[in-house]
Amino acid sequence: MTTVAAYAAPAAKAPLERTTVERRAVGEHDVLIDIKFAGICHSDIHQVREGWGEAIFPMVPGHEIAGVVSEVGPGVTRYQVGDRVGVGCMVDSCRECENCKAGREQYCTGSGMVGTYNALDKNGEPTYGGYSEKIVVDENYVVRIPDGLALDVAAPLLCAGITLYSPLKRWGAGPGKKVAVLGMGGLGHMGVKIAHALGAEVTVLSQSLRKKDDGLKLGADHYHATSDPKTFEELRGTFDLIVSTVSAPLDFGAYLSLLRTEGTLANVGAPEEPVALNLFSLLGGGKTLAGSMIGGIAETQEMLDFCAAHGIGAEIELIGAAEINEAYERVLNSDVRYRFVIDTATI
Ligand SMILES: [Zn+2]
Ligand SMILES: [Zn+2]
Repeated sequence: MTTVAAYAAPAAKAPLERTTVERRAVGEHDVLIDIKFAGICHSDIHQVREGWGEAIFPMVPGHEIAGVVSEVGPGVTRYQVGDRVGVGCMVDSCRECENCKAGREQYCTGSGMVGTYNALDKNGEPTYGGYSEKIVVDENYVVRIPDGLALDVAAPLLCAGITLYSPLKRWGAGPGKKVAVLGMGGLGHMGVKIAHALGAEVTVLSQSLRKKDDGLKLGADHYHATSDPKTFEELRGTFDLIVSTVSAPLDFGAYLSLLRTEGTLANVGAPEEPVALNLFSLLGGGKTLAGSMIGGIAETQEMLDFCAAHGIGAEIELIGAAEINEAYERVLNSDVRYRFVIDTATI
């Protein structure tokens, strides 16, 4: 066991504070990672505040982890000391079910995926996330960060990047396809960059035109305000695919009307409340309303390689650990361009 410094919420809704947590001894197939950067994901805040239900405290959030391997177990074959690596939303799964075998570990139907924090590992011990100095993870749940990608802008790819990459690939974003990204935040800005790099014609649908310049700079071809009713008239029947990143309640019917025949609205946002939908909005035009949650380990590696090849990192605001609580407030106010990343040397 190793004692490491971390930032944790001691109880639900409590501010995060500096503390220490124990990391397990490096096992046969484990790697010890010196964490360099950890992104702040909106879901960290949902979980600290128990917006998604009862949680485990103290909680060290953080599932956008980038660092360097500093020790490997005797059975480790994929990584060596000094390798640049990342850890995303999961640190284990059953490895035996149909989904795990197919590289969809995030949908593990055996024991379920083990979250990087706010979960219990196979020994029944709570997991602690990336707002800390070091983490021990089985090598099978670690991915390699290619040399061309700086670690600070790579960290948010481990959740925000894969959350957008997976549905964009699955529903065929590419040349000749009109893709809308709904929401221009931490997730949405990654969607714009990745959809553009995949060759799609990209439209941002954002509440206002406040971030229009950024959107166009990051690769969007068009930018519309959803607060303007004219947007819905003008864009009716336009898109092959809409990816919604919004985690607030939304009028899905209105957005479904923007799809072409047999188009898909893929939702990756996680509102705390159920939404109402008139199912007639799916019938005419044979539309699909779908969901997607992060991606598997191999697909996460594919995403990192793709991002490195296309020079894609997240747009970040680098902060010290003492600023985490303030950053949470700013995320809730959509006041971040576009992802806070903690320099873990400040913990
Ligand atoms: Zn996340
Ligand atoms: Zn499984």
